[in-house]
Amino acid sequence: MRTAARLDTLGTEQAYVVLAAAKRLEARGHHVVHLEIGEPDMPTPPHVVEAGVRALQSGLTRYALAAGVPELREAIAQSLAARGVRAGPENVVVTPGAKPMLFCAALALIGPGDEVLCPDPGFPIYDSVVRFAGGRPVYYPLDETRAFAPHVEALAGKITPRTRALILNLPHNPTGGVATAQDLATLAELAQRHDLWVISDEVYGRVRYDGRCDSIAALPGMAARTVIVDGFSKTYSMTGWRLGYGVMPASLAEPMTTLVINNVSCTATFVQHAGLAALTGPQDAVTAMVAGLAAKRDLLARGLNAIEGIRCATPAGAFYCFPDISGVLDRTGLTCESFAERLLAEQHTAVLAGTAFGPAGEGHLRLCYATERAELERALASIRTFVGALTPAAAGLT
Ligand code: PLP
Repeated sequence: MRTAARLDTLGTEQAYVVLAAAKRLEARGHHVVHLEIGEPDMPTPPHVVEAGVRALQSGLTRYALAAGVPELREAIAQSLAARGVRAGPENVVVTPGAKPMLFCAALALIGPGDEVLCPDPGFPIYDSVVRFAGGRPVYYPLDETRAFAPHVEALAGKITPRTRALILNLPHNPTGGVATAQDLATLAELAQRHDLWVISDEVYGRVRYDGRCDSIAALPGMAARTVIVDGFSKTYSMTGWRLGYGVMPASLAEPMTTLVINNVSCTATFVQHAGLAALTGPQDAVTAMVAGLAAKRDLLARGLNAIEGIRCATPAGAFYCFPDISGVLDRTGLTCESFAERLLAEQHTAVLAGTAFGPAGEGHLRLCYATERAELERALASIRTFVGALTPAAAGLT
């Protein structure tokens, strides 16, 4: 049977492939350290779970309005004030996760032949949805000397008359990089000068260690050309609930809602009520999570930097380290893919190769440190042992 050619344009996420391999090892009785999948390890805050259960018990089991439960849209709009963004409920469209909003935004804004600036390395779904919408991803680099801030000058050089949109992801997956206020101002100026849409993926917007909280949409003139993509997965540890949203000009929210109607009808009603409790209730679980993550980041970055051949920047946001392991690869002839594969097979530590995030990920690994300290220590010990045993002969190079 033939399928539509557009399916061939879809990419995927390597994290799920590695997770499946790690689960196979676990099924054989091995203890695996999971640093591959990107989710917080704290439970969903209890008051959020209770709100979801209460909603179910009180009969909130029917369709919701397609754009979202009005109280939740209002609360989302208000929450954005912390980033300096002024929005109302008419700007908000709720979806089952941030990912469906990325998909909808690509379908709504990108047409055949449009060029879209995507970070490299970057979340692989950007490349995939841009191609699926008929567009062409054009990669822009990050500046490793500035802890992976967007390389604004290089990005400007990639803009052509066909450039239609710029995808930003700050804080950034896989590197944890953020942008300075000056970077954001220059990016906003470029977007306006070249009449670009900005798709600003801010799912890690609350997971920052520099005390800042910002959005390009807060800059003058930018709300009219920005779709903020955000969700509850990372901030409130709600990855399995599936709750996200987009914030956009009201004129776009209407057709975007039609896309949602065609696709999922609406987001689960009780889940939206849990999200409302998350946004309007106590935020101490989030504060504690971010403080705990900062300590884990330091533990992992310090441990990695102590291994010969590995260099690791200290990320300002998200919960990933993106170490440069080219010193080890050059010495042994391994690739970052074969390093990650063997680390899992021989030491039972699951990490991702940097190239799972694009060609510029060459020579790097991505490690998610949102796990227990003991697991991070175990991972560091396993990487030390693995690297220590890697002579050129052991790597199969003689
Ligand atoms: N955007 C980025 C950069 C992510 O890393 C992820 C999840 O890993 C998502 C979006 C998707 O989040 P959600 O679970 O809300 O669909």
